[in-house]
Amino acid sequence: MPQVIHASHGTMLISSRAYAPNDIILSIDVAVGISPTPDRYSVQIGVGTHVLPPRDLPRDAPPYWRYLNHACNPSGRWVGLELRARRAIAEGDELTFNYLTTEWEMNEPFHCRCGTCGGRRIAGFRHATVEDRHSVDAELASHIRELWAKHGLTQPAHATAAAHLR
Ligand SMILES: [Zn+2]
Repeated sequence: MPQVIHASHGTMLISSRAYAPNDIILSIDVAVGISPTPDRYSVQIGVGTHVLPPRDLPRDAPPYWRYLNHACNPSGRWVGLELRARRAIAEGDELTFNYLTTEWEMNEPFHCRCGTCGGRRIAGFRHATVEDRHSVDAELASHIRELWAKHGLTQPAHATAAAHLR
């Protein structure tokens, strides 16, 4: 079982063993609860479908996926309902995934603290820059791909300005 750690900068999920690339780390059981809207701990698994742990669950207990932080260069990625190792993971590494691969529109956007991106705003794929969208293209959940095609996203106004900063 992974370990939930409460650090000064927030809660993290830490691997308690090593994984080879593509190993299954954990999976989502949709029986935990489904919602048409996201919250802070939900993961989007379909168009208008979010798996949402009940609020009264004990802390630091399963389902552990609710404690997965976002990272722009994460250790994990979702393949359907399975979180798989995106690279070799050592015991003690933080387990993360890129929220842009599953979340269309997040209800609690934040500035990324992964340390590799310069603190970009993460608000869901819908609000990502064109460059950021294409950076996760290969790992997108099918519902995000579907929404992307459906919305035929035009480039947001801030995307051009952000591109100039890099
Ligand atoms: Zn980042």
